[in-house]
Parts: sequence; C-alpha cells; structure tokens
Amino acid sequence: MFSAIIRFQNYGQQVVEAANYIGQGFAVTSDHSNRLPITVQYPYEKNLPSERFRGRIHFEFDKCIACEVRVRVCPINLPVVDWIFLKDVKKKKLKNYSIDFGVCIFCGNCIEYCPTNCLSMTEEYELSSYDRHELNCDQTALGRVPSSASQDVSIQLVSNSKNGKIFGQKKFNN
Ligand code: SF4
Repeated sequence: MFSAIIRFQNYGQQVVEAANYIGQGFAVTSDHSNRLPITVQYPYEKNLPSERFRGRIHFEFDKCIACEVRVRVCPINLPVVDWIFLKDVKKKKLKNYSIDFGVCIFCGNCIEYCPTNCLSMTEEYELSSYDRHELNCDQTALGRVPSSASQDVSIQLVSNSKNGKIFGQKKFNN
C-alpha cells in the first residue's frame, strides 16, 4: 500500500515535469511566431557586413615600398611580392604584387603590420568562382575600388521587426 502511494507520487512528479517541458517548448515557439523571418533572399537582399568585417583586401600600389613584411607575418607566406633593386637610388621598386584569395584565410595580419598602410580590408564578400585560380588577384584586381553594399543605391533597407527597427539588411529596389 505504502509503495503504491510512493509510485503514484513519482508518477505525478514526472507528469508535472513533462508538462513543464512542453510548456517551455510552446513558450519558445510562440516567442518566435511573433518575429519576422531573418532569411535573406540573396542576391535580391543583402546583409550589411559589420563594421570590422574582413572582406577582399584592397591594395594601393603607389604606397607599397616592397618591404615584404606582410609575407613574413602571413601564416601561409601568401602575398607574392616581385621587386627589382634600383642601384642608382638604392631603393627597391615594386613590379608585381598578388594575393590568392583561394588560399587566404583573411586573418588580417598583413594589413595590421604593413608599415605604409597600403593594404586594407573591404566589405566585399562576393568572391565565389567556378575556378579557384581566378581568385589569384594581381595588383590591378587588388587595386580595384571596393563595392560597398551600404552605398549601393539599387538596394534599399528592409525593416525586420514589428517595431520598425532597421537591421543590417538591404533589398533591391525594383
Ligand atoms: S589576410 Fe592573412 S592569410 Fe591573407 S594574405 Fe594577409 S596575412 Fe596572409
């Protein structure tokens, strides 16, 4: 008789626990049902990169002194710096510069240690290609002025909450 009461008590506790878990699940579900979807309809909508986003590297050829510091600080010795030594002025002259974005890990070391600030990270993240060799960028490709999603006039901001607060998303204005 006594053991039956204890078993009944345990059963009651388990029922209460299960009801509690089901209630928690419903609370999470109902909380999410009030929110708008956060899926971005790329490429018609785009996420705005965060302030310190590490995108394609921009290179300014004229500023470079071919010191090769960035090659030494790069964890995979990636940047290729091709230079000649001008004996008359006893100075290095940069001939070619390239970074292979198919290999780069976007750690930002080269940018941090460059003494002339000729490298910078951009917001550009659309670097996909069918052939990874196309991602090997020379100084001309690296010097291209970066496109910025935040300054793209063909895209407009999307409100992504019920109180009208703007989140980091943009949408094509068709
Ligand atoms: S971002 Fe990092 S991996 Fe890429 S080139 Fe610079 S140092 Fe090398």
